[in-house]
This record gives sequence, structure tokens and C-alpha cells, in this order.
Amino acid sequence: MISFARRRMDRSLPPLLRHAAVIFLRIYYNMSSCIFCKIINNEANATIVFRDDQVTAFRDSRPAAPTHILIVPNKHIESVNSLTSEDEALVGHLFVVARQLSTEEGIAESGYRLITNTGVNGGQTIFHLHLHLLGGARMKYPMG
Ligand code: 5GP
Ligand code: ZN
Repeated sequence: MISFARRRMDRSLPPLLRHAAVIFLRIYYNMSSCIFCKIINNEANATIVFRDDQVTAFRDSRPAAPTHILIVPNKHIESVNSLTSEDEALVGHLFVVARQLSTEEGIAESGYRLITNTGVNGGQTIFHLHLHLLGGARMKYPMG
């Protein structure tokens, strides 16, 4: 879809405008095909446990621990690699929500693990930034 649109734009737009249009198209295409964006927008089902104007948290469909919650920014950010200094407050908020949820899930005292997989080698499979909140059992160590 993007390459078709790109070929058309190559012929009709000046370079700077073309560059901006490609970025816009890429973001739009990612958002419209992203399962986490669909969950955030109520276009796909998930067990949502928390939501505010910045983040949504829902249970992982294939839990790897008794508590396995994904905490996700409402804005489509592909991964840690795409973060900018403008996202600092948002990233802090993801952690504060993780802390609140750990209390609600009754795992704050026993302990839990927060993971953000990044890129292929990091094991990321959904390219919308998320924190895994895992707990309710002893986590395996070493990681990797
Ligand atoms: P990643 O591998 O990117 O770090 O984590 C993606 C996580 O999303 C995986 O743990 C996977 O089980 C979960 N996941 C993938 N698709 C869905 C879905 O449609 N709904 C929910 N609730 N979780 C999903
Ligand atoms: Zn998304």
C-alpha cells in the first residue's frame, strides 16, 4: 500500500512534501493495522484493566505468568527506538500505572517484573510500545 502511494507521489510532489507525506502515510498505515491501536480504540476485544487519557492496560491474551498485563501508550509509538524527549512524562506515567496495577493485582509485595522488548533481537512482536507487567510467581533468572 505504501509503495504504491509512494510511486504516485514520486511523480507529483516536491521532495520535502513527499518526505512528509511518506512519514504521514507510514504512521497512518501502522495505526490502522496495529492490534494494540485497535484495542485502545475499542475496535478489538481485550480485558481492559485500566484506561486514562494517556495509557491503556489490558491482560495479555497468552499470559506468561498468573498476572500478565500490557501497559500501552494510547498514542502509537513503535518501540523505545522511536521515543523522543517529548515522551518522557508519558514513559514515566507507564511506570506509575504499572505500580498502581501491581498493588491492585496484589503482587506489589511479592514482586514483579517489568519488561519492554525492543526490536527483533529484543523479542518484540507487536510494534506498539508496551510494558509487560508480570507477577504472581517467581520469575526465571537469568534472562536472555
Ligand atoms: P512483545 O512480544 O511485542 O514484547 O509482546 C507482545 C505481547 O502481546 C505478547 O505477550 C502477546 O501474547 C500479546 N498479544 C498479541 N496479540 C494480542 C492481542 O490481540 N490481545 C492481547 N490482549 N494480547 C496480545
Ligand atoms: Zn498502535
